[in-house]
Amino acid sequence: MAQQCFSKSFTRQEPIPEHAIERAISVLRSGKLHRYNVEVGEAGEVSELETEFASYIGKRYCLACASCGSAMYLALKSAGVQRGDKVLCNAYTLAPVPGAIENAGADIELVEICEDYTIDIRDLDRKAAAGNAKWLLLSHMRGHMADMDKIQRVCERHGLFLIEDCAHTMGAEWDGRKSGSFGQVSCFSTQTYKHMNSGEGGFLVTDDEELMARAILHSGSYMLYDRHVARPDLEVFDPIKKRIPNYSCRMDNLRAAILRPQLQMLTRQCQRWNERYRLLEAAIHSIEGLWCPPRDPRENYVGSSIQFSVCHGDSESIRLFLEKCRERGVELKWFGSPEPAGFTSAYQSWEYFGNLPDLPNTNRILKRMCDMRIPLTFTLDDCRVIAEILRDVATDILQSD
Ligand SMILES: *Cc1c(COP(=O)(O)O)cnc(C)c1O
Repeated sequence: MAQQCFSKSFTRQEPIPEHAIERAISVLRSGKLHRYNVEVGEAGEVSELETEFASYIGKRYCLACASCGSAMYLALKSAGVQRGDKVLCNAYTLAPVPGAIENAGADIELVEICEDYTIDIRDLDRKAAAGNAKWLLLSHMRGHMADMDKIQRVCERHGLFLIEDCAHTMGAEWDGRKSGSFGQVSCFSTQTYKHMNSGEGGFLVTDDEELMARAILHSGSYMLYDRHVARPDLEVFDPIKKRIPNYSCRMDNLRAAILRPQLQMLTRQCQRWNERYRLLEAAIHSIEGLWCPPRDPRENYVGSSIQFSVCHGDSESIRLFLEKCRERGVELKWFGSPEPAGFTSAYQSWEYFGNLPDLPNTNRILKRMCDMRIPLTFTLDDCRVIAEILRDVATDILQSD
């Protein structure tokens, strides 16, 4: 029997919805793409989007940015991070996260992860107690949320300022509370591979009025910050408006125009991701040699990608497993790869920080971790085909030793 192969692209997202395209065209026809290019009394697409997103997360203020990376940079600067300060961060995250910390001039203190890919809260507690870090940039990498009740307790115990990186948890919840509502400031991405697609883009949300005024000024508001809607009172800006440098990290009306309709669809899209995720998760649970960490019942995640560990075999057999999957059209990424590839990178490749600690648990876990995108262009039947290919290849390559 001929081997079944999969032929769809793992990087193909759904098209932008038609009504969003129409909105974008009307922005293009107006020529008013810059967020501050609005008529008297008109909020503009970016300000409207900020108001809608703030209310979606349940925070008072929102700033739309050029990317999540720039939102995290603004968050760190606006929270008062100074050159040489130490920022705690889980070691399993994506390159823009350490990049934002470096951009803010801070040092990174990496925290181990656990078998379920979330931050190791005991290591966090230890490092927060031992060191002088005042900030935690917690990255919900690939949508895996740590126990947020415990995280909050650790932050309170050590006076840590919590910044959430919600690039993969837009729409997710912990125990009925939205991801991004825990941090004193939280950042989101609207880059093509995240949960809303504007090519590039991001959000910063907070309830802290001083932080927000600084973030708006840093983002490049010139003296037009009064045109923001989801912002603190103007008196908050007055004493600081000449002391905050402009880093030009704004979003434009064109992107906001295609995001506003997508925000209305977000809940439904998250459900569609999870239908696909749960099908794949159940299949992986039943495949000998592969292991998908069980998720905490309090975690209402968004399964826009799936991670699993290869339990048997050495690096060579994991490499072979990935290669055979690829030959049959199933594209997996490997965090254990000795060389960073594509969007995947392990913490050892952030050489610009100088000497990074060796994290034995994180190394061991990442060595066996595979990662697969689940774009919504895949049907449930597509997911079934992928699951069968994973099963075939695992049965071939990963015999228990
Ligand atoms: C994509 C991503 C980011 C950064 O998003 P950009 O908008 O591309 O800057 C941050 N953190 C994680 C975990 C991501 O996956």
